[in-house]
Amino acid sequence: MLSLTKQLLDLQQADAMVHEVTAHLERLVVHRRQLETRVVQERASVAALRDALQKLELDSRASNLEVDELDARIRAYQERLDKGIISFKEMEDLRTKIASEKLRMNRLEDEALGLMSSIETARAGLAQAQADLAPRELHLQAQVADTAREIEETEKGRLADLRNERAALAAAAPPYALAQYEALRATFSNPVAAIDHGTCGGCKIRVSANTVERVRAGREIVTCEHCSRILFSL
Ligand SMILES: [Zn+2]
Repeated sequence: MLSLTKQLLDLQQADAMVHEVTAHLERLVVHRRQLETRVVQERASVAALRDALQKLELDSRASNLEVDELDARIRAYQERLDKGIISFKEMEDLRTKIASEKLRMNRLEDEALGLMSSIETARAGLAQAQADLAPRELHLQAQVADTAREIEETEKGRLADLRNERAALAAAAPPYALAQYEALRATFSNPVAAIDHGTCGGCKIRVSANTVERVRAGREIVTCEHCSRILFSL
């Protein structure tokens, strides 16, 4: 292989590695963001349980207050009824009111009991979720830290090394060849392609016998007559 073509092929391999490591780095960044989002979500779900409990407690207080008011009203009706200095019609009215208020009271008391039981369940659920949150959060934070470390190590280590290597390879290539490579790279990820059984490895189209012969002779940079990729023979 022409040594210049070999230089460009090495450059292409370096570019492919830089691309691969950059893609890996991007996945790591996405992963870290997902982990951070999960921490926020875990906290939010505990906060939602706390809010739900508070609402139940408020409802329960309101319901108890209503029971107390209703109880006071029934007592007041009963008192007037017991004193008996009212007409028969008024007495009948009071009895009807007392009966209907008592029915309402029963319903409200059932509701209050239901709320109390919901509160107990919600309290237990919240306590459990709060107890679970701490270790889960620690675990997630540890994963975030691991990912952040891997990102930094990759950036400062492997990727920086590869970029330096790539820069050295680019600096070593003659400017005209480098320019030709870079121009092709704007279109193709593999500007340097092998001829395989008379076919360009890039565009997969058969090249002329003359092209095959010139590549084999290795005296100059030879390009594919179809896609312009720089060719080499295996
Ligand atoms: Zn081609």
